[in-house]
This record gives sequence, structure tokens and C-alpha cells, in this order.
Amino acid sequence: IKLLTDIPSVHAAARGDHVAVEFEGRRLTYAELDRRSDQVAGFLQQAGVRPGDRVAWLGRASEAWYEVFFGTAKARACFAPINSRLAPPEIAFILGDSGADLFFVSPEFFACAEAVVAQVDRPIRLIGVGGERDGFEPYAALREAAPAPELTRPSPSDDVLQLYTSGTTGLPKGVRLTHGAYAAFLELRHQVPGFAYAAEDTVLILMPLFHVAGTNISFSGLAAGARLVLMAEFDPAAVLRVIAAEGVNHAFMAPVMINVLLQTPQIADTDFSSMKTVCYGASPISEAVLKAATERFGCGFIQFYGMTETCGAGTTLAPEEHRGELFRSCGRAWPTLEVRVADEAGNALPAGQIGEIEIRGPILMAGYWNRPEATAETIRPDGWLRTGDAGYMDEGGFFFVHDRVKDMIVTGGENVYPAEVENAILGCPGVADAAVIGVPDERWGEAVKAVVVPSPGQEPDPAAIIAWVRQRIAGFKAPKSVDFIEALPRNPSGKVLRRELRKPYWEGRDRNVG
Ligand code: ATP
Ligand code: MG
Repeated sequence: IKLLTDIPSVHAAARGDHVAVEFEGRRLTYAELDRRSDQVAGFLQQAGVRPGDRVAWLGRASEAWYEVFFGTAKARACFAPINSRLAPPEIAFILGDSGADLFFVSPEFFACAEAVVAQVDRPIRLIGVGGERDGFEPYAALREAAPAPELTRPSPSDDVLQLYTSGTTGLPKGVRLTHGAYAAFLELRHQVPGFAYAAEDTVLILMPLFHVAGTNISFSGLAAGARLVLMAEFDPAAVLRVIAAEGVNHAFMAPVMINVLLQTPQIADTDFSSMKTVCYGASPISEAVLKAATERFGCGFIQFYGMTETCGAGTTLAPEEHRGELFRSCGRAWPTLEVRVADEAGNALPAGQIGEIEIRGPILMAGYWNRPEATAETIRPDGWLRTGDAGYMDEGGFFFVHDRVKDMIVTGGENVYPAEVENAILGCPGVADAAVIGVPDERWGEAVKAVVVPSPGQEPDPAAIIAWVRQRIAGFKAPKSVDFIEALPRNPSGKVLRRELRKPYWEGRDRNVG
């Protein structure tokens, strides 16, 4: 497998009857995936889609996502799945920005799509993926009626996927990922310790398919000819049931998913014996949660640190490296990738010194779509990509991500990284979930505040939480105050939206960090 477009055809020839994607009792084989993605490519060409054009998608995950993605790639166009949890004006912005003329929509989003296309000033063809509604052409009928496509091999510089960043620190940005970047990803992944999938394996897909974790774990499974079991919603009891019933071997989970699974009563009698690896990442994980999970699941855990802008690649912590101090590390650089810690001016810093993490290599994005200034601020002229994350590297080449530069709290002249404080709080009895933010403070500039979700039926004492933290990390990092909340605001990739938590405290003031 050299390119993403090889996946359906190579496996259709080698194991055509093997299930590629299983979803809600339906099974899509590799032969069908190949045939249907050819049909999609034929339809797109007939509809006038040219190489480089964007094709937009809004909807609930299903096997059709894979058909339309591979069909779009075969037509040498670029697939742009839109985050379905965004508000209609944001979706309208992205659809308008993408330039797509064809918009694939699942029935849950028909009404939203109608409202959205009315706000975009060019005609857009609406295609309904399942379900029926006036104004939406039926996907299956278009596909079946399509002429045979004229396929040419993509060139490495073609954009194949336009993923929007999670929008954790601001508005989502469209990231242009090319065939060349994915070719490098497919090649490099073989060298990542522990990250080996086989054709006999079953891979559970839980992360959204508009986020780099969901797409990459899918591509990694499909490139191996494995079977994907797709779940469109994260229902913890159902996930535990599916792991045992389907004999799941591999999964990618966001830290919040792992934390929720550990607190689900059914976990006590879940059979994890089929599990080989759990990949996790996309946000910081607490040591207490990670240790409990490795014990309970009893399989290898692999941490990924990366971002949309690097095709998801960056560093990994291999299963056998989950020990001692390294439990807090996000691992070492992927083979052949360059990862460093640098100062503002772009000078590499020695081991142990905190700065911004930067990444260079063939997996980098081609740039942000329609945002040349943001691209120029993010990729240095010598090719280093600034991640926006603060951290350091130790003597052994292991990286420790502290947190986002923009979320760093400056209190009395000291820098505090919320993730470290959250990590300490999450081990405290009575605490189910926690986030840490900086709030304005006359004396300290910013003061550290914890926002805590209590465990069911518990009312932890703020003073006890503060005392717990002070026993574990430096006093200036401990929260000065604790607020309680029912649930933390998170985006679909499980990241806490600290900017939303901060908002009420900063009304009418500027926060000058990042
Ligand atoms: P936006 O760029 O729109 O603010 P985002 O950065 O959350 O959103 P993504 O590209 O999905 O969008 O996420 C990448 C970021 O996720 C990284 O820059 C880092 O902050 C965080 N992250 C990813 N993996 C890890 C990890 N293993 N540990 C800690 N943080 C991680
Ligand atoms: Mg980002």
C-alpha cells in the first residue's frame, strides 16, 4: 500500500470477501468498498468534479463515509468532512470556505444542511446519504447509475483530505493534507513500536471521522486489510459489550473515553482478553486514569501525540515504556520525523528546558486552506511546524507535553500548566473529572481555579481538594479556589474547552497569553 487510493483495490484483489467496515449489523466487504468507491468516483466525474475540487460531508458516521472518501480520493478530489457538532453558522462558514459544490448529508442533518446552504452564495447540490427528503438526491441511486470512472494515479502534491482542527483554542482551521503526507504516514506507521495491525484483526472506531484520530486509525486498520467495527456514538456500556462480543483487538480512545469507561459499572465483568492495544491521545491523560486503565484492560497502551497539521503523527509512547516517570511522557519522535523544543526565535533548546514543541517531516500539512497568514505563522521558513504546545524533552529523547501555550496560567510571575494540576486533582477521592483555568486576580494577575465534576452522590470539600494537590505539586500551582459543575464542556474529540470555562470570569477583560 503506497497511497490511500491503493487500499480498496489491493485488498479487493487479495481478500475481497473480507469485511472492511461493519456498522449496525451491516457489513461492507473490501470488494464492495472498491466497487462502490469506483462508482462514487464515476459519479463525481460525471457531476463535473475536477482534481483538486472539494467535496463536503456532514453527517453521522456510517460505512458510506468510507465509500465517499475513497471515491473522492480516486477522482483526485479532496474530501472535506465537517464537524457535525458545530453550530449552523460555523458549518455554513466552513462549507462556503471549502468551495465545495457537492454536499453529502446524512438524514440527521437534513434540516441543518438546508439552513446552511441558504447562507452560502453559490448553488450547492445536496446528496442525501440514506433517508429521503425533497431537495436531496439519493446517494445510493446516484452511485448505482454512475458511469465507470477514468482513474489516474494521484500525484503526491494533490490534497486528499481537508480536516478542520478541533477548534479547541479558536475557530477551526482547514488543514490541507496531501497524498504525499499520507503516503509518508502509511510508510512510517510500520516503524512505530507496538502499532502493528494485521488482516485478521478487528479495530474499533470510536473517534469522530471528521477528526484526524478517527481517520488515521481507520486508514491504519484498512491499510492492513483488517475489519473496522464502527460506532457512531460513544455509549460506554455499549462499547464494553462490543469489545467482548466482537473480539475487538485494537481501539483508539480519547482520555475522557477511557476515564468514562473506568467509571462504568459493567467494566467489572467485561472480558478484555481479545484486546491487544489501546491507542490514546488527542488531549492530556491523567496518570491515575492511565495506570488504572492499563491494569484493567491488561493490554498494551500506546500514546500518540500529534495534531491535524502533522497528519496525526508526532511522538509515541510504546507499551513497554509505560513505567515510572515515563507514565507522564508522550513518548519519542516517530522514526525519521524531527521533533524538537524551541524558543520563540526558533532556536532549539537543550534537554530539560521548556519551550514550544516543533515538528518537521514529510507528514506536514500543505498549509491552512485560504489562510496564508495563519500558515506563515505556523510553519517556519525552514520547515519546522510550531505546535502551540509547551513542553520539554529529557536526555533520553522522551517528550513531556505540558499544555497549550494559550492555556498557560501566569500567576505571580510563575507559569502554571493546567494539565499538570488537573493530573494531580484527578486522583483525589470524590472527583470524577476536572479542568483548571486562570481567572483574573488583583494580587496574582491570574489565579489558578479548578472546575470539578464530583463523582456520583459525592460532595467533595474544596479545601480537601486544594490540600490534596498541595501534597503532590508545588504550592503555587495548587488551585486558589474550586467551583463545581455537572459536566465539562468538551468538543467531539474529547478536549476540554477551557476558553468556554474561562469566559464568564473574563467578561469585559483581555487575557494576554499566547
Ligand atoms: P485548534 O488547533 O483548532 O485549537 P486542536 O489543536 O485541539 O484545535 P487537533 O489538531 O485535533 O486540534 O489537536 C492537536 C492538539 O491536541 C495538540 O496540539 C495538543 O495540544 C493536543 N494533544 C494531542 N495529543 C496529545 C497528547 N498525547 N497529550 C497531550 N495533548 C495532546
Ligand atoms: Mg491546534
